[in-house]
Amino acid sequence: MVSFQLTDDQKEMQELFRKFAQDKVAKVAEEMDEKEEMNMDIIAEMKELGFFGIPFSDEIGGAGMDVLTYALMMEEISKVDASTSITLSVHTSLCASSIEEFATPEQKEKWLRPLADGSKIGCFGLTEPNAGSDVAGAVTTAEKDGDFYVINGAKIFTTNSGFADTFLVFALTDKSVPAHKGMSAFLVDRNTPGLEVQPDIKRMGIRAASNAEVYYNNVRVPAEDMLGKEGTGFKIAMKALDGGRIGIAAQSVGIAQGALDEAIKYCKERKQFGKPITAFQNTQFRMAEDQAMINAARLLTWQAAVAKDNHENYNFLAAQAKLVAATVANDVCRHAVQYMGGYGYCREYGVERKLRDVKITEIYEGTSEVMKMVMSGSMLR
Ligand SMILES: Cc1cc2nc3c(=O)[nH]c(=O)nc-3n(C[C@H](O)[C@H](O)[C@H](O)COP(=O)(O)OP(=O)(O)OC[C@H]3O[C@@H](n4cnc5c(N)ncnc54)[C@H](O)[C@@H]3O)c2cc1C
Repeated sequence: MVSFQLTDDQKEMQELFRKFAQDKVAKVAEEMDEKEEMNMDIIAEMKELGFFGIPFSDEIGGAGMDVLTYALMMEEISKVDASTSITLSVHTSLCASSIEEFATPEQKEKWLRPLADGSKIGCFGLTEPNAGSDVAGAVTTAEKDGDFYVINGAKIFTTNSGFADTFLVFALTDKSVPAHKGMSAFLVDRNTPGLEVQPDIKRMGIRAASNAEVYYNNVRVPAEDMLGKEGTGFKIAMKALDGGRIGIAAQSVGIAQGALDEAIKYCKERKQFGKPITAFQNTQFRMAEDQAMINAARLLTWQAAVAKDNHENYNFLAAQAKLVAATVANDVCRHAVQYMGGYGYCREYGVERKLRDVKITEIYEGTSEVMKMVMSGSMLR
């Protein structure tokens, strides 16, 4: 039975994340959204504080903490800004965690250490223009040429690509077999000739995050920079997404809690019909329901994080946590705007941004429909 009592260390870190989020990130979040640009000073501060290496061992330059602590960070940062938290999440759970799990000791020194100690930022290129939910539809190739592989193709929606140093990219090394056997993973330095990052894609939400199409035109990668064995790329990608979903579930919980907290603060002050909005039973009951659903989503998220920490199978738990948390978060953000009426709809109050940001939690790292496919696949085996 999993215990959800946080340790003193976890509580201390939670407080540190909360303080940093409130004191630093909250102050720039609105401006970043308006400018559609990440504040690189905030990124630099988070690197300095070790936020980019939370679940990695201190021997490899990380903070030596656990996945639950990483989820606590994701929640606290997401309470104030989802663009900042997705930057941390893609770097940590999709890129660096894959290297931690599948790299050789030499590769870990070369690629994981600078990611874990925050000197470099990572990204993850799996999705292609014609291969989203159906990852196996990918057409990017990597052809062997002596001691190199030559990558050709295009990846879309690569988060962090505008400023990432390390690209974990997936390409077919054998087109004669299905992608789950013919795909391989490669670690590519941003400055490799032929790697071209396009301008950021204009989006509805998480507008300060970097997200672009990336072209790979005859990108020559040394064979030693293949992650895992040839043909294991699909497995590596699926494993990365399993772990990533814990971070997105925590992000959803954070966005929802941030929106509800903001709405409660406002509705206690705002008076109509001679009473605060919080005096109406409709508001009270719905707020109670919202908090109950957020708490349930948080417990599912922590359950998945603890399962990963305990090296148990967390595939179903992570999909379940993401499905529930993303659904709850979208509901709560919609409610938050409604609690606040016209002011909720205005840019001046943070809930308008949260409602735009939260939609993505039902889409990336597997849509809610894909979460149901993962869960039912394991239930009905
Ligand atoms: C802001 C943003 C950031 C992202 N970051 C990254 C990143 O860093 N790296 C990366 O590789 N990718 C990234 N992605 C891609 C993301 O993971 C995909 O958008 C997502 O997996 C869905 O793929 P798609 O957009 O092609 O939708 P599609 O696969 O075309 O799906 C369209 C709709 O059909 C539904 N659908 C599809 N197949 C089925 C089915 N079998 N049964 C039922 N319904 C189905 C889907 O659930 C969805 O509702 C990002 C996307 C966005 C928008």
